[in-house]
Amino acid sequence: MDAKNTKAFGTVASDAPLKEIHIQRREVTPKDIEIEILYCGVCHSDLHTARNDWGGSVYPVVPGHEIVGKVTKVGSGVTKLKVGDLAAVGCLVDSCRECDSCQHDLEQYCLNGFTGTYNSPDKHLHLQTYGGYSEKVVVDEHFVLKVPANLNLAAVAPLLCAGITTWSPLRHWNVGKDSKVAVVGLGGLGHMAIKLAKGLGAEVTLFSRTPEKTQDAKELGADTVVISTDAEQMKSVKGKFDLIIDTVPYIHDINPYISTLNINGTHVLVGYLGDLNPMLNSVPMIMGRKSVAGSVIGGIAETQEMLDFCGKHNIVSEIEIIKMQDINTAYERMLKSDVRYRFVIDMASLKK
Ligand code: NAP
Ligand code: ZN
Ligand code: ZN
Repeated sequence: MDAKNTKAFGTVASDAPLKEIHIQRREVTPKDIEIEILYCGVCHSDLHTARNDWGGSVYPVVPGHEIVGKVTKVGSGVTKLKVGDLAAVGCLVDSCRECDSCQHDLEQYCLNGFTGTYNSPDKHLHLQTYGGYSEKVVVDEHFVLKVPANLNLAAVAPLLCAGITTWSPLRHWNVGKDSKVAVVGLGGLGHMAIKLAKGLGAEVTLFSRTPEKTQDAKELGADTVVISTDAEQMKSVKGKFDLIIDTVPYIHDINPYISTLNINGTHVLVGYLGDLNPMLNSVPMIMGRKSVAGSVIGGIAETQEMLDFCGKHNIVSEIEIIKMQDINTAYERMLKSDVRYRFVIDMASLKK
């Protein structure tokens, strides 16, 4: 049998464009589900990994961790789904299942390191894992999610990363109808943060550098938009927020946002990874018992909870459907924040 049995799109170097390649997918083991991928969202992390922005990319890289599709095969011990069902896979395809985090449905904080959907060591084939820019994927049923049937399937895909990454801090910090939440950056994560916070009943503000996004933000559910480069507007929300979800992917000054937190408020970073510059000034934190925190994706049970919530409240992502062959242009547009608000690849285009 041909080991490289699956068509995919990936890159062989940090400075090379993505192109068609072939990768190996394993045969289903008793606990595995094989999924024909119908749509895959395009996350800014895909771009970071393809271009080795964080270091540690092992090539070839096949990105994609916002996967929805149809079950085509199941192992003999699978109980969660059957052939023909809709299925989804997010950022995780494995973890140790034994550590304290895994035992508490926090696979994303597995103490032995989770297995990412792409660019992680693959325990089965001893290669790297390859993501959703591909025809099919084989995943242990524990890491496969059920898709609410009432939602537009293509627009569900981004929930698997942009959705859960913003849902998890909203839930952890107990956001509800009395909460005042702010979101920094209106991109893939930011627009889901607005919709989900609104769905939970919070009052929501968007901080954006881009005045042209004001109308969109309001239509997405933001009660207020603050242009972050305007000092007067920043002053108008001093001391206001219980939680700020900061989705900005690149280094930026977070000190101005700390002064917009209420007493006991938290600024949670989900976008930028690395040293902060300028450094954090502790004075407003100490004087207001404020926190700066971070958060990564979410666990499997929490991801299912978010999908079910979206099914109930009719929440999906705002998407622009692209062909697989257009991915390099899509990355350039994402770098210019020219996406409203998530690219989703129609994987039928890969078959052509
Ligand atoms: P995205 O769609 O490109 O959106 C990012 C938004 O941030 C932009 O639309 C823009 O909004 C703002 N922005 C961009 N560059 C900026 C800069 N230099 N300074 C200030 N604001 C800037 O990206 P995304 O897919 O939402 O991902 C956001 C970040 O989260 C990425 O770094 C990604 O890798 C990371 N991520 C983290 C997790 C996690 O688990 N923690 C999960 C998924 C993604 P405005 O035009 O409104 O200012
Ligand atoms: Zn992502
Ligand atoms: Zn673990």
